[in-house]
Amino acid sequence: MSLTKKILIALILGGIVGIGFTFAPSEVFSPIDTYALTPVGQIFLNLIMMIVVPIVFVSIVLGTAGLGDPTKLGKIGLQTIGFYLVTTAAALVIGLGVAYVLQPGTEGTFDVENANFEAESTPPVMETLINIIPDNPIEALATGDMLQIIAFAIFIGIALAFLGEKTAGIYRLFEQVNEILIWLVNVIMKTAPYGAFALIASAIGSAGLDAVGSMAMYMVAVVLALIIHAAVTYSLAIWGIGKASPIKFYKGFFPAMSVGFSTSSSSATLPISMKTAQESLGVKKSISSFVQPLGATINMDGTAIMQAVATVFISQVYGIPLGFTEIIIIILTATLASVGTAGVPSVGLIMLAMVLQQIGLPVEGIALIIGVDRLLDMLRTSLNITGDATAAYIISESDKRKEAKTAQSTK
Ligand code: ASP
Repeated sequence: MSLTKKILIALILGGIVGIGFTFAPSEVFSPIDTYALTPVGQIFLNLIMMIVVPIVFVSIVLGTAGLGDPTKLGKIGLQTIGFYLVTTAAALVIGLGVAYVLQPGTEGTFDVENANFEAESTPPVMETLINIIPDNPIEALATGDMLQIIAFAIFIGIALAFLGEKTAGIYRLFEQVNEILIWLVNVIMKTAPYGAFALIASAIGSAGLDAVGSMAMYMVAVVLALIIHAAVTYSLAIWGIGKASPIKFYKGFFPAMSVGFSTSSSSATLPISMKTAQESLGVKKSISSFVQPLGATINMDGTAIMQAVATVFISQVYGIPLGFTEIIIIILTATLASVGTAGVPSVGLIMLAMVLQQIGLPVEGIALIIGVDRLLDMLRTSLNITGDATAAYIISESDKRKEAKTAQSTK
């Protein structure tokens, strides 16, 4: 049986078992979760987290050095960031549109009186941008600061490209380390069905379906907006710019989407999404290894969608209407908030506080959606990593076409 099939079965079984657990008394679920599901899921997560930093560093060094010419890197960088910003803005418009049509905050009863949420201080986005260049690269590697790691790796890659023969030994070393890491990803992927099963059963079992209640419409709005963004925005981009079939893309990328779904972490899924994009979709290594790690850090369309729907939902529950200016502010701040969201579970919800504060909505509103956020986080993370892969795929396909054209004209 193929790995994709195995993962699909694991997802379905995990979902069924998780739903089953929501009906079981907590004395039954708790020990199974503590001693079986959580450890298995956590081991799987640790296995992939173990290789995230080395794989990002090594593959960006190799990718940058492989591109050779820094102007090509600049061009790809601009295309990538442009694509990320435009699709995030589109995601926000879709999220806002769906929320206004479905009006999730107008029906049902919400316990506004008892809603309590302490907004954590969100990292100032400007500071994050300025600190992209690390003053201590070893610290960046040790703490897993992705943007800083990306920046440092790009510098090393450019240096290797410039030094050429002089540093051929080190270049070869990076290639060999890369081989080791890819071999490890392949081995770890074999455990994905078990990890995914455990993570999903545990997440659904502990979220409990009674949290859903009057939040059902909010959840429907988020899910619908996520589906529209995947089916329309990405498919149009793949078909229109990438000149490729969206169905083939989704079929090929499914294993990574399912790991994103079960881990709720773009960062943790990164080794698998890079491998899947390169091997199943034929994305060029040099492009995938630059575009996807950057995306896993700054491009979060699924998170932006949740933030848009949540903002409208909270405004409706509290009866504070939003004008046109507020809508524009939501689009701007939610874009920044999704850039500043780290690719780990639930951070999108913390960053939502920043959006709410900007437009003067009560931050306590977050308490209303916290109960169902874990389940939505799984779906939005899947979309987040799909956006990164879409960018890598499109850029790689147009690069291949350009190369084919040049090869033809030089013949
Ligand atoms: N869990 C999301 C991710 O890793 C971030 C979020 O929205 O909380 O992509």
